[in-house]
Amino acid sequence: MRITTVEMNALRRAKNIFLPVFKGEPLEKAAFFAFLPAPTRAIVKKFIAAEFKAEDGETKRMWSSKGQIARIAFFGLGERKLWNARKKFLVSRRMVQYAKREKIEEFTVPLTDAFGDEGERAFLFSSNAVLADYDFNRYKEIPKGGWPKIKEITVAASKEMLPITREGTRDGIIIGEEANRARDLANTPGGDMTPKLLAAEAKRAGKEWNIPVTIFDEKKMKALGMGGILGVAQGSTEPPRFIIMEYRGSNKNQKPLVLVGKGVTFDTGGLNIKPDQYIYEMHMDMSGGAAVIHGIAAIARLKLPINAVGIVPAVENMPSGSSYRPGDLLKTMSGKTIEVLNTDAEGRIILSDALFYGWKHFKPGLMVDFATLTGAAHVAVGNFMSAVFAKKKETESLLVDVGTKSGDYVWPFPLWDEYLADIKGTFGDLSNIGKGDRYGGAIHGAKFLEQFTGEADWAHIDIAPKMTTIDSEFLSKGASGVGVRFIVELAKRYIGKIPNPKSQIPNKS
Ligand SMILES: [Zn+2]
Repeated sequence: MRITTVEMNALRRAKNIFLPVFKGEPLEKAAFFAFLPAPTRAIVKKFIAAEFKAEDGETKRMWSSKGQIARIAFFGLGERKLWNARKKFLVSRRMVQYAKREKIEEFTVPLTDAFGDEGERAFLFSSNAVLADYDFNRYKEIPKGGWPKIKEITVAASKEMLPITREGTRDGIIIGEEANRARDLANTPGGDMTPKLLAAEAKRAGKEWNIPVTIFDEKKMKALGMGGILGVAQGSTEPPRFIIMEYRGSNKNQKPLVLVGKGVTFDTGGLNIKPDQYIYEMHMDMSGGAAVIHGIAAIARLKLPINAVGIVPAVENMPSGSSYRPGDLLKTMSGKTIEVLNTDAEGRIILSDALFYGWKHFKPGLMVDFATLTGAAHVAVGNFMSAVFAKKKETESLLVDVGTKSGDYVWPFPLWDEYLADIKGTFGDLSNIGKGDRYGGAIHGAKFLEQFTGEADWAHIDIAPKMTTIDSEFLSKGASGVGVRFIVELAKRYIGKIPNPKSQIPNKS
């Protein structure tokens, strides 16, 4: 799919025009309306008066026999007073889904305020259109005539808005593409996305965008004392990998933004094996790792002037004769021991080594991890956001704002020390689940991770609630690509946050 930008007066030459419409707002008042040919304007007015209420979610189309324009589709947005900032992410997705359903290969859209403020609308339009264009079909037989495909979307903007529209479109496409690549990794079945293969994918992305990638094997991890990762991995015939991507967009002295992603390529639960309704989709338990790999790739493609490091501990969690067991005491790289009370709480065990390594080795300006860590987070927030836990109030506010801006929404949870008492080990330093009742599991997970972050300004994002898409998002079934848009927005904000970076101006070519 291509997205091109044109000046508004090109509307009259378009074949298919898609229009977003607020209820009760006459179309003739919209800036683009004057650019339609007079006969078209007349029939549009008539059609709307007779057929279209512009209710939120309503879609209607009319055919035109005059001039170049063949079809105009109207997308109802409801009343403006009921509009909110979250809805602007969905408009271009709705249009793309509609085009796919109706097998429309190209369409033109005037960029109105329905897509966001002037500075963001091209970016939001294109990133969300690319997300909605995605389907995971590679394991299916190609139907006769191929999959329905949108070849081109043309975005129309006023002459003054054209430069910013071009720039926003280009950036938006990059974000959408990288999020879709993260979805590809997460959607790929566990047998075809082992720790080794995930590491190979990181290498491939690194090669493509010129990001140095280092992979540690078991031997290296043993030498570093990463007993958490090795402990979880020991039940699988697939060896673990430790992936490090180092993007340098600023001078050497600048403290990096360190991003850590959970990479459990398949989570059976281990000896505490999951019941059947929970084991489905567990090939996506590496969604945090996928987000970090392609978040770093997006940062590199956008040439953001920061230093950013991606770290992904990749393992498979399997039950077998060599599995780690409940009661095992694992010695982590930090020196702290973990008392395994449940082998299904493996994400925090592998992250303990990754976070400690990230802090110790890179001395980050900020470290954030992305992990499908707990079902408890999903229970707490439902399907519409992830949970964020931050040491510093200021970082918490920053991340909530990044979520709102990026569309990967997050909501804050506490890291009170009261919860630490629940995970003090009996025979080891920490237990990997709460010892008492089952309540507060998401916070216990976060509190556990915090113990391995040293002095770092750190936050944990539990993306379990957003691992897969839901119908109301207008995205295809499967992995959502959560985290990639968040990482890019965070990286942009990091430019202003870090002390004394030499180059403050994005060097875009
Ligand atoms: Zn698990």
